[in-house]
Amino acid sequence: MDGIKAIGLLSGGLDSRLALKLVKEQGVEVIAVNFVTPFCTCTPKKMGCSSCRSAADQLGIELVVQSLKEEYFEIIEHPKFGHGRGLNPCIDCRILKLKKAGDLMKERDAKFLVTGEVVGQRPMSQRRNTLLQIEKESGFPGLILRPLSARVLPETIPEQRGWVDRNKFLEITGRSRKVQIQLAEEKNIIDYPCPAGGCMLTQPEFAVKVKDLIVHNGKLNQNDVSLIKLGRHFRLSGSAKLVVGKNDSENKTIERLALAGDWLIQTDGIPGPLGLIRGAQASEQIALAGRLVAHYVNQSQEDSVKLLAGRNGSEEKISLQAEKAGYEMVEQYRIKHKERKP
Ligand code: SF4
Repeated sequence: MDGIKAIGLLSGGLDSRLALKLVKEQGVEVIAVNFVTPFCTCTPKKMGCSSCRSAADQLGIELVVQSLKEEYFEIIEHPKFGHGRGLNPCIDCRILKLKKAGDLMKERDAKFLVTGEVVGQRPMSQRRNTLLQIEKESGFPGLILRPLSARVLPETIPEQRGWVDRNKFLEITGRSRKVQIQLAEEKNIIDYPCPAGGCMLTQPEFAVKVKDLIVHNGKLNQNDVSLIKLGRHFRLSGSAKLVVGKNDSENKTIERLALAGDWLIQTDGIPGPLGLIRGAQASEQIALAGRLVAHYVNQSQEDSVKLLAGRNGSEEKISLQAEKAGYEMVEQYRIKHKERKP
């Protein structure tokens, strides 16, 4: 269809690749947009995640990368439609991304949006009614085309106006990916990532650390979120938490992320982990953090370890002899996911 443009949401996975391809094959110019959030597992670069870039290259289409931060934190803190099993606000997330894609649609003079969503594939955001509700909330009713499930969904404006032929789209529903895999073979789509990747917010062990930040700080920020991707985390008090690096590379990154006023605590004279204490109000919290850091000092067989703590951005320093915390104490303070009892 000459002259018709569409904006396609590209995640890098198989479904969005197929969806965009099915629309492009009908002569529509598709511009892909990839939204990068601080919780993507794909270690995105400025140019977008590598699987998105290779997908756009394979499809021969332009890729626009947009980064979501503050507004994304806001929907995690206050999701209108709630969280999934982790802390994933999937419905709000889809609405936000479609709103942003809609802004791009207007900017680029495109006519409609394309997604790789499949009816019934995901429990929270891809039920039939939820898809329709997301569409309404996004502010673009009738303009969101989902080629993989188009024939089991109401006809969209692009189909009604003949910009695309509905009969060339599919009627996939449910979690099985058999049809998509077969179609990928037919269309020579290769090297797509397995569907297990995606979003750290769905991982209970990670989600519990994000929740801890929201409960104790009220708000998320980029620095705190970068820190929770590293090391072991302990809640020392309502205001104070400790992060302990697991290896040299983590120690260096934790040091780089330290803010003025944070305490950095490390072994004196022998190799060991770096601890970062944020929000400490009293020397007892430094002493407690010292015991927890000492637990991870493998170079010493002694029951106690000599440590140095310094306040970042100031000359304030404390030297302490810290008794190693035992396993029970470590577990008492560790921020961890508690399995629900059956
Ligand atoms: S899993 Fe994460 S990225 Fe995907 S829709 Fe849910 S919140 Fe958004």
